Amino acid sequence: MTVQNDTTKEPENTFLPLSPAEAAALGWDEVDFVLVCGDAYVDHPSFGAAVIGRVLQAAGYRVGLLPQPDVSSPDSFKVFGEPRLAVLISGGVVDSMVAHYTVAKRRRTFDEYSPGGRPGKRPDRAIDVYTGLAKRAFPQKLVVIGGVEASLRRFAHYDYWDDAVRPSILETSGADLVSYGMGEHSIRAIAAGLAAGKPIEALRGTPGTAHLCEFADLPPAYAECAGLARVRADKRAYAKACAIQMDNQDPLTAKPLVQRQTRLYLVQSPPAPPLDGAALDAVFALPFARQWHPAYDAAGGVPALEEVKFSLIHNRGCFGGCNFCAITLHQGRRVTARSAASLVAEAEALTRLPDFKGYIHDVGGPTANFRVPSCKKQLNKGMCAGGKHCLAPSPCANLKASHVEYLAILRRLRGLSGVKRVFIRSGIRYDYLLCDEREEFFRELVAHHVSGQLKVAPEHCAPAVLKAMGKPSIATYERFAARFAQLSQQAGKEQYLVPYLISSHPGSTLADAVALAVWLRKNRIRPQQVQDFYPTPGTVSTCMYYTGLDPFSLQPVHVARTADEKAMQRALLQPHLAANRALARKALAKAGRGDLIESLVGASGGRKGEADSTEQRGNKAGGVKGHKAKAGTAATVRQNGNGKTAGRGGSGGKWREKQQSSGKKRKR
Ligand code: SF4
Repeated sequence: MTVQNDTTKEPENTFLPLSPAEAAALGWDEVDFVLVCGDAYVDHPSFGAAVIGRVLQAAGYRVGLLPQPDVSSPDSFKVFGEPRLAVLISGGVVDSMVAHYTVAKRRRTFDEYSPGGRPGKRPDRAIDVYTGLAKRAFPQKLVVIGGVEASLRRFAHYDYWDDAVRPSILETSGADLVSYGMGEHSIRAIAAGLAAGKPIEALRGTPGTAHLCEFADLPPAYAECAGLARVRADKRAYAKACAIQMDNQDPLTAKPLVQRQTRLYLVQSPPAPPLDGAALDAVFALPFARQWHPAYDAAGGVPALEEVKFSLIHNRGCFGGCNFCAITLHQGRRVTARSAASLVAEAEALTRLPDFKGYIHDVGGPTANFRVPSCKKQLNKGMCAGGKHCLAPSPCANLKASHVEYLAILRRLRGLSGVKRVFIRSGIRYDYLLCDEREEFFRELVAHHVSGQLKVAPEHCAPAVLKAMGKPSIATYERFAARFAQLSQQAGKEQYLVPYLISSHPGSTLADAVALAVWLRKNRIRPQQVQDFYPTPGTVSTCMYYTGLDPFSLQPVHVARTADEKAMQRALLQPHLAANRALARKALAKAGRGDLIESLVGASGGRKGEADSTEQRGNKAGGVKGHKAKAGTAATVRQNGNGKTAGRGGSGGKWREKQQSSGKKRKR
């Protein structure tokens, strides 16, 4: 089925209804679906609930939205009455536990997906809580769960907050189906089946879904991974199960995949194919209001919109294969992209928004500079399995790198009337960029598309850590940084690289952290923020963290588990800060590198002649003046299901400043 809508039409600028009164205004006396979401309703294509709601609306269904419902009673789920077809539930753009807790398991004080940024609007383990209430409100109704939280917890999985292996979210929530991945294909298939009067049994097996069943109801042929009891008891079995799960995520090659839970069997049907260019264009041309619902105006709106309001998503999927990223299990590794015409039409619509100031903030996606599949082979044989990466440790011989199309689109966008600048703020893969023999894109990136800082993600420098992360060697980054500096100078620009770094990723020993501190010092990089590795559900790195094994080779991987070791690794990224000096000295002494204390920390106090400043005084490797660096919350934002992230640090800080400067003080 394709979405039926006219891509040249202006958005109608109306919202999906949040109340029976709004539904009645549309002439509805009931709804086909109630769509419950852990986030506030922002009608924008970067927000998954809005996309699914609009896709269903375009297919002719009536959808009532219940964003952040009151969870004290099932009555709040009955606002629209019993839906004709089903209840759909999403935890929100980010897993609710990641949204609520820092890696140190401290409660966050800001929620960019809630009105006014106020925390506490969704429960912990939102999918489980919402599904329980939906089942109490409508015991006979089908409940389909989707979005990042449901998708990444579909198998038995290590849960960092419980520090234990939890069963599939289908078991803990009691939902009937998971629609995993991006969901447009599977939700339309489910809706069509329900509208045709099919029972739930007939919907099982829909591509892109998973369900629980009795042994007798398993499909005739399937692959199997170790069940819940085994993966709880045996870390090697957990690691092997993880590898099997990762290897069954390509729509061309995946088999139905079975994993026994407490009693029933989880069946993951093969993934739905990714939306092709035309289908993506149709989704992005749906009549999004591109604004939060007016119900949130009084609270000052929903902060997450700020980061994406003037940005374009041009692609989906990522073959980068970073092991700490959940994209393999959610969007998948196949890259598809929107057409130039679709992007230009959306950019023109942005220029007509009253608050557009002439700047397109991003033309990106999971990785900004991926637009074409990494090789031809995958088109009929699928993506490689067994943990093979397209880019790391070195680029695959079959990889074909091209920025021709992307560059042509950027040129068109920056030539549009009303557009002053077009920036790229999603991360770029510099190793892929260097594979492109034509340097045209690199030159124009530097000359036109960097807003003072360009985010890049070397993440670490130590070979063992980079291998565990699935990243290229640091020499590749250094080559890129050097050329970036030369091209910036040629373009007459003073601009900076912002290298993201993760501390305590599996594979990182104290000696590796010392090596990173030395590398940062040598390159005169001072990270502004530091992010510890966050073991979020559904990643290969989280499997390494839990098991201490590489799931593909089953070789042991060092894991920094104690708070003490994590704190030392983290302090070594910012040894210049007064708060970190004692810990950094302790770490260097423990690593047997007392000889480095003077140069990295200073004998007493800071490094000679240097203050606790975040200012960077020049990148020796790159020769770039005023280089700034910060480490990011990689795992957190890469949980975002739509690929367009709110940035590693999120928009909280900026939003807070704006609110404070406009006198709107919020309770903290
Ligand atoms: S052949 Fe190479 S480029 Fe193609 S999917 Fe496999 S690793 Fe990636």
